[in-house]
Amino acid sequence: MSTIAFIGLGIMGSPMAIHLQHAGHEVTGYNRTSEKVRPLVEAGGTEAASIAEAVAEADVVCLMVPDSPDVTEVLTSEDGVFAHARPGTLIIDFSSIRPDTAKDLAHQAQDAGLRLVDAPVSGGEAGAKNATLSIMVGGSQDDVDAAREVLDVVGKTIVHVGSPGAGQTVKAANQLMVAGNIALLAEAIVFLEAHDVDTAAAVQVLGGGLAGSAVIDQKAQKMLDRSFDPGFRIDLHHKDLGIVTAAAREAGVVTVVGSLVAQLMASARANGDGSLDHSALIGVIERASGRTP
Ligand code: NAP
Repeated sequence: MSTIAFIGLGIMGSPMAIHLQHAGHEVTGYNRTSEKVRPLVEAGGTEAASIAEAVAEADVVCLMVPDSPDVTEVLTSEDGVFAHARPGTLIIDFSSIRPDTAKDLAHQAQDAGLRLVDAPVSGGEAGAKNATLSIMVGGSQDDVDAAREVLDVVGKTIVHVGSPGAGQTVKAANQLMVAGNIALLAEAIVFLEAHDVDTAAAVQVLGGGLAGSAVIDQKAQKMLDRSFDPGFRIDLHHKDLGIVTAAAREAGVVTVVGSLVAQLMASARANGDGSLDHSALIGVIERASGRTP
């Protein structure tokens, strides 16, 4: 069993850290806003007052923060992980960030005598709570093998997809597909409501056919109820579609539908919905259709 530092105990990080504690690891949590560490402490974990304190004795350091600048700050700042972790420490970054940033940070970690794998996740808040996440892992074979004891606790489908940064590239593709699914589900529901169809019945039968998806399973009810507690925030999906757009441009490929959905997501944000679940994208379709959100 390992001593684990877990940095970033938000919607995803908190249940993941708790699963690791319950699995027998010794987990020390650090979160900028201290109150979010409470559930981990109630589960038997420990609270650290700083990143330096959290990582000082850790064999493994896990991160789950929002964006590339956040991961960079947590790892490379003066009071960050690179400056305070013990030589050889394995860092597992679960955050969804730019692939080029992940690759660069993995090289910096190596230069500092540390090991870093990118391990972004899919499966949403439910996947984190049920420890059924899909985890796409980028890193060297040895480092990924070493990360398994942690990944197996929080995830169900764990696949080593390539060298450092590759996990983030696969995650970007995941976010492209989820965004497209959400936008089409939103359009279908607005369309069905406009025709006065029993939408709950419609969603039930659609879910059993070729249109069925994890997006229908997790998001349709939220759309029908107009209940948008996050979940996965519009702000974060907007961030991810920016990553997709930049990475597609870099590779010289087009993401026509993805660009369209990125604009819809930006519109949701511009209308003040950034802190809502991404199922709130239905509001954009409603507004565009002249229907009251
Ligand atoms: P969240 O609830 O907003 O949690 C983010 C955590 O990171 C918060 O505890 C926050 O601390 C901390 N944080 C933010 N900026 C920081 C910084 N610069 N330095 C230190 N800590 C910082 O977000 P989340 O939904 O858990 O998402 C985390 C990551 O997982 C994102 O990359 C997201 O794209 C990805 N993801 C999310 C989901 C999902 O369904 N939610 C699914 C798959 C992947 P404070 O409490 O102080 O703000």
